Amino acid sequence: MELTNLTIKPAHEGLKNKEFTSVDLTKAYLEKIRKSDLNSFISVTENLALAQAIRADARIALSEVEGHDFPELCGIPCSIKDAILVEGEKCTAGSKILENYIAPYDATVIKKLKEQGAVILGKTNTDEFTMGSSTENSAFGVTKNPHDKTRVAGGSSGGSAACVAANEACFSLGSDTGGSIRQPASFCGVVGLCPTYGAVSRYGLIAHASSLDQIGPFTKNVEDARIVFDAISGRDSLDATSVEPEIRNSKFEIRNLRIGVPKEYFSKGVDPEVEKIIRNVIKKAKDAGAEIVEISLPSSEYALACYFVIDPSEISANLARFDGIKYGLSEPAENLLDVYLKSRGRGFGSEAKRRIMLGTYCLSSGYYDAYYKKAQEVRELIRQEFAEAFKKVDLLFCPVSPFPAFKIGEKADDPMAMYLADIYTIPMKLAGLPGLSLPAGKTNEGLPVGLQIIGNHFEENKILDIAQELEKVL
Ligand code: GLN
Repeated sequence: MELTNLTIKPAHEGLKNKEFTSVDLTKAYLEKIRKSDLNSFISVTENLALAQAIRADARIALSEVEGHDFPELCGIPCSIKDAILVEGEKCTAGSKILENYIAPYDATVIKKLKEQGAVILGKTNTDEFTMGSSTENSAFGVTKNPHDKTRVAGGSSGGSAACVAANEACFSLGSDTGGSIRQPASFCGVVGLCPTYGAVSRYGLIAHASSLDQIGPFTKNVEDARIVFDAISGRDSLDATSVEPEIRNSKFEIRNLRIGVPKEYFSKGVDPEVEKIIRNVIKKAKDAGAEIVEISLPSSEYALACYFVIDPSEISANLARFDGIKYGLSEPAENLLDVYLKSRGRGFGSEAKRRIMLGTYCLSSGYYDAYYKKAQEVRELIRQEFAEAFKKVDLLFCPVSPFPAFKIGEKADDPMAMYLADIYTIPMKLAGLPGLSLPAGKTNEGLPVGLQIIGNHFEENKILDIAQELEKVL
């Protein structure tokens, strides 16, 4: 048995039946990581992982003596996007400015994983401050796609997606601001869930755009996505935007649902092979008894433009804290202003600088109304359109990305081409909705393609039920 192939449930059973220990599992993954040439990790937290595995094994042994179960994630090795704080470990956010920054506390999601006894193998690669769609903006090199190493793994959580796809971790946590969980999940052929805004605490996630950021899982199947989501979600007093979801026990089946297919998401520009694969899943849903309804979300056309005003605006505010004094890199200089200028000038990469400048411009007096306020109005229109859609249908099906994984370097020098990678993942994000990327098939070249399942607010359960049912027929 290859230990690193196991999903969470069989790994849990194996631990329970003493077929292997958490230390065995952890060592198997560490070995995989050591041999990998994907560059999915920025740092490997080997000491932490082994200590946690030993503790998990002790807890498992004790639970047997005391005659009770142990948590599902106890002893299960995972990886964490390097934008989420793990106390005592480096957290770079993919940036030179935080190259040697040590996290002083645990993010809430990490606290929750540690309480369950999960094992943290390391911190995964990300575009700098999670800005990007390919991890090419990481200061620590690009992550390669395990399905074709000449191609990107997607981004910004490319390291998380690649390492789960390549069995270098059982599951991973990433973050999604405009597509950073779903798009790399789609490119690497794994399940990626972007929860509803507020479903998971953002405390301890290095901020990109605070009104959009959300943490979520990368897993090998839908069942695991549910296990990890259940473990990390819930209200947290340290994040005022987090909420306690209602417990909904209903079970959803495809045959009882109306599935909306937004026609704007199949417009020109979508790769014909991607369209074919997605249409095929829609047909499978129809065969299973769903009612398929074509709908229209006309404002989605403006979502990208709207996002690239709101997102840089929030970035320009959030990244102001990296001033060469409080965190990370500090360049010596004659006076305070020069410390700021030199530290930021040397520490930030070009995408971060581009967005700081764009955002500062959008928020400046005289332009605020024309750009930021206008974008907020468009955001509201987009939100209303989705709300209307969910009066007619239960879920939306569409592609995650207009194309499969692209070649390393193909879009790196063209920010507009890169931004277009998020054309189908951004609109629902502006409305704060949850979405999942489900592996739906592969192109002739063997590149994975993800189906995006979008639900109404806090309907992760419905999305997961349907994804699980579809997973069986794909
Ligand atoms: N690719 C998008 C961006 O660059 C989304 C990134 C993300 O979701 N973190 O903004």
